[in-house]
Amino acid sequence: MQTVLFTSTIFGPIHSRRLGSSLGVNLMPADGKVCSFDCLYCEAGFNAQGPGKKGIPPREEVGRLLEDKLKEMQAEGMPLDVITFSGNGEPTLHPDFKGVVDDVIELRDRYYPAAKVSVLSNATRLHKPDVADALRKVDNNILKLDSAFDSTVRLLDRPTGSGYSVADVIEGMKQFDGECIVQTMILRGEHDGKVIDNTTDTETDALIAACKEIGPREVMLYSIDRKTPAEHLVKVEHEELEKIADRYRAAGLNVKVS
Ligand code: SF4
Repeated sequence: MQTVLFTSTIFGPIHSRRLGSSLGVNLMPADGKVCSFDCLYCEAGFNAQGPGKKGIPPREEVGRLLEDKLKEMQAEGMPLDVITFSGNGEPTLHPDFKGVVDDVIELRDRYYPAAKVSVLSNATRLHKPDVADALRKVDNNILKLDSAFDSTVRLLDRPTGSGYSVADVIEGMKQFDGECIVQTMILRGEHDGKVIDNTTDTETDALIAACKEIGPREVMLYSIDRKTPAEHLVKVEHEELEKIADRYRAAGLNVKVS
């Protein structure tokens, strides 16, 4: 069974193509995974591995661990471009996500005022006012939308709740008035005998229409970078991603391929 990718609450700094020198904040358990999606490509593995025993780290612990790390990095003269909420699941599921975001912003201001704060979220909790308020405060509010079709999201991202709908997610994203980045994983493959492919013209046209409605300041297209828990997924190469991106550009959207 695949184990979780991040074994601590604060991890890195790691160099990310998308984000630069990034210190990670994992608000989910350090020994298990908790997510409202169960994506076929999740670097933290499938949800079936379970939530572990350590539990979700309390707000105070996150703040203390982050401050220790920032002090250490500052003493060593290490650069920092971004503090990124990601890890073993969906960060907005933390019961005090808003409080943690406030603490992280305060610590960033104190130790690395030029660094950005980013959140990678699957956008399943935008209907929660405290989650939306917290996401408004961060520099990079990065929200996942892998398809504009519920059926594709069900195959690829596998929402754990029955109430998921792309239409609701689009509505949720619209509330940020452009202050968000839509992130889309582009891939093709097969799982459990079903074909998955969000590179088709139909998928691309629908995603472009969704993004035009949302009006994000940026769209981020990327493909698989590491080993995925589902075995039969195929990476879409940079050149093809750029061709898809050109269609977004032609529709007037600001898109980056990473
Ligand atoms: S939303 Fe993110 S953490 Fe959750 S399963 Fe998908 S890739 Fe993994």
